[in-house]
Amino acid sequence: MKRDDRLNALLQDMALETQAVRMGIHRTAEREHAEPIFMTSSFVFPDAATMADAFVNNSGLSIYGRIDNPTIDSFCERLAAMEGAEACEAAATGMGAILSTVLAHCQSGDRILCSTGVFGATLQLFQKYLQKFNMQIELVPTTRLEVWESALKTPARLAYVETPSNPTIELVDIAALSALCQAAGTLLVVDNCFTSPALQQPLALGADLVIHSATKYIDGQGRALGGAVVGRRSLIEPVTTFIRSGGVTMSPFNAWIFLKGLETLQIRMAAHSERALALAQWLEEQPEVARVNYAGLASHPQRALAQRQMQAGGGVLSFTLAAGTREAAWAFLNGTCLMSLTANLGDAKTTVCHPATSTHGRLTDADRQLMGIGENLIRIAVGLESVEDLKADCRRGFAALRSGS
Ligand SMILES: *Cc1c(COP(=O)(O)O)cnc(C)c1O
Repeated sequence: MKRDDRLNALLQDMALETQAVRMGIHRTAEREHAEPIFMTSSFVFPDAATMADAFVNNSGLSIYGRIDNPTIDSFCERLAAMEGAEACEAAATGMGAILSTVLAHCQSGDRILCSTGVFGATLQLFQKYLQKFNMQIELVPTTRLEVWESALKTPARLAYVETPSNPTIELVDIAALSALCQAAGTLLVVDNCFTSPALQQPLALGADLVIHSATKYIDGQGRALGGAVVGRRSLIEPVTTFIRSGGVTMSPFNAWIFLKGLETLQIRMAAHSERALALAQWLEEQPEVARVNYAGLASHPQRALAQRQMQAGGGVLSFTLAAGTREAAWAFLNGTCLMSLTANLGDAKTTVCHPATSTHGRLTDADRQLMGIGENLIRIAVGLESVEDLKADCRRGFAALRSGS
């Protein structure tokens, strides 16, 4: 359709919120308005020559679901545009995206630098499995640029960071670290799950690859697992090739959920950020609370960096209780009832957890200490409920803590 062609030629230069709604639509002959879901494991050819052309000459026609699918392609096109990337590859989960990226770009003997403040499963993957293949994993304190600088003096294939970090909300200066990585010939990979492209664009700051767990804010309603990696075409192609044989393919149905999630990403991120900031400011005033970690707070130790690098603070905050014990933390959790006691984040429903005994419960005490995850730390991923109702829920938690129940 001519109107569609005209629009698709213009979209690359349109704003993120327009791309979020319109990018990646290639309407079929049925003239559907919403994006179709191609739930099919393979694709048929009109004749043998066309089939041979697809298999042997890469003509571009879809072949088989592990290799390509139009719904997944639409999702990739849309996310790439929103991250300002040349290319995107989707994976079954966020961890699938991380595994595929590392296996596509690293080999036995390679040194990998990883910030201390990363997702628990990421650390497990790196330390328990990649080390088996003789990759050297070295943890670097998230915020200490001078330690990164000296670590990069020895050749490293890849630097892996998450910013803001989970659950302590520490920031990595992406622009400064990317300059160091570039000089060292090290690929900088940023997990942008906590902010999404609506609040932070790491590629524009110099990162080479951006990882997503689409399970979180891209879905936004806690329904489906998925992952993605975006960046230059030359860096995405090896990831695509790996996924085609590695098989950690995204489901087309999930790709459709994420496509629809991207449409509302920006307004949801603004709403999550607004509520999280209000709750963080209120928590700072509560006598039961020792310290609040939130990227949007004036008291955040990296305030200037947060303002430079992020458009808002995002939905996740954490805080430490003045009563430093596990019992106090559990009493708080057990006293609340509105916030869901679950490990997921990025949902319309607010979630709360005790990282030391859940998301980061399988790490060693030493690693938890290194990551700043104490027994008195609580993480809240603020959803879209009323802030007043969330404060009331926290009050119920504090009351339970005070009464020792
Ligand atoms: C959840 C998460 C992951 C892993 O994603 P899955 O979709 O659960 O595999 C990776 N990084 C961060 C920051 C996450 O929050």
